Amino acid sequence: MKFIDFDKDKCDECFKCLRTCPTKAISFKKHQREIINDMCVKCGVCQQVCPQKALSIHSDIEKVKHMINTTSKVAVSLAPSFPSAFKTDKPLKIVKALKLLGFDIIEETGIGAEEVSKAYIEALKNWSQPNAITTCCPAANYFIEMYYPKEIDSMLSVVSPMIAHGRIIKERYGNETKVVFIGPCLAKKAEGKEITGSIDGVLTFHDLSMWLENSSIDFESLTELNFDQPTNIHGKKYPMGAIASCGKNTRFNYIKVQGINQCRDMMEDLSKNKFDNLLIELNVCDGSCINGPDYPKNISYFEKLSRMN
Ligand code: SF4
Ligand code: SF4
Repeated sequence: MKFIDFDKDKCDECFKCLRTCPTKAISFKKHQREIINDMCVKCGVCQQVCPQKALSIHSDIEKVKHMINTTSKVAVSLAPSFPSAFKTDKPLKIVKALKLLGFDIIEETGIGAEEVSKAYIEALKNWSQPNAITTCCPAANYFIEMYYPKEIDSMLSVVSPMIAHGRIIKERYGNETKVVFIGPCLAKKAEGKEITGSIDGVLTFHDLSMWLENSSIDFESLTELNFDQPTNIHGKKYPMGAIASCGKNTRFNYIKVQGINQCRDMMEDLSKNKFDNLLIELNVCDGSCINGPDYPKNISYFEKLSRMN
């Protein structure tokens, strides 16, 4: 599946993308740039660093607007990291804003996360492998599948909170309901397309902020609105390491692995059988999804972190 488009007219051959790609999935030959699909973990870092904006990852905005205009029910699954994305001390204003943009149902992806946690707890009861790897990050999934296929047996076979929530929404409101995931992640765009029957579109927080900026909505003046379904605190805390609690009262010790370099180190160690009894959460972004690639611009990691408290 093609993930990134390249506009060769914009490229000035600075090779920044080539140097930044953590898996060396980009090749340049005779002024032709190519992304080697089998090596690309869909982290989106190359697109973020290109100063010429020569790389683009398809935006679903027009598709989502079309859904809103032509479908009776369009739901949002909003990533629990949403308070970190918008500069306001009243983060639930975003629920109101989404309704004004035309969405019918707004829920937090934490609802899917609760189900995923239950599935992890269940799977860990009879887990016979020495270690257990959790897989909510699609880019980490691709990384293991492409570079450490022998370790696939150590991965708990549970869908991500996004996919679980999409299924829950369709079950609750009818299969014809369209579900749009909104979060900080570019790799989710690939995951949403690959696993069919759950998610109909993926937008990033950056996509959403641009949409709001170009709309007539005055975000500042909005009042807060509750989600259409409540989420419990466990689901809300997912981007902050809630998977840790799934390992309680088991033989496993939880360890959080963040950033592609740590992911590589951990997978190297696992492939050399260095550890036992670890419950490992892998995320390819340094600082996990709170530091995902497609936030509104100019927000520091620590600013985002402080907004989550
Ligand atoms: S998306 Fe990530 S892995 Fe793929 S080419 Fe870009 S930087 Fe490399
Ligand atoms: S760490 Fe989170 S934001 Fe980053 S690629 Fe993985 S799922 Fe996406």
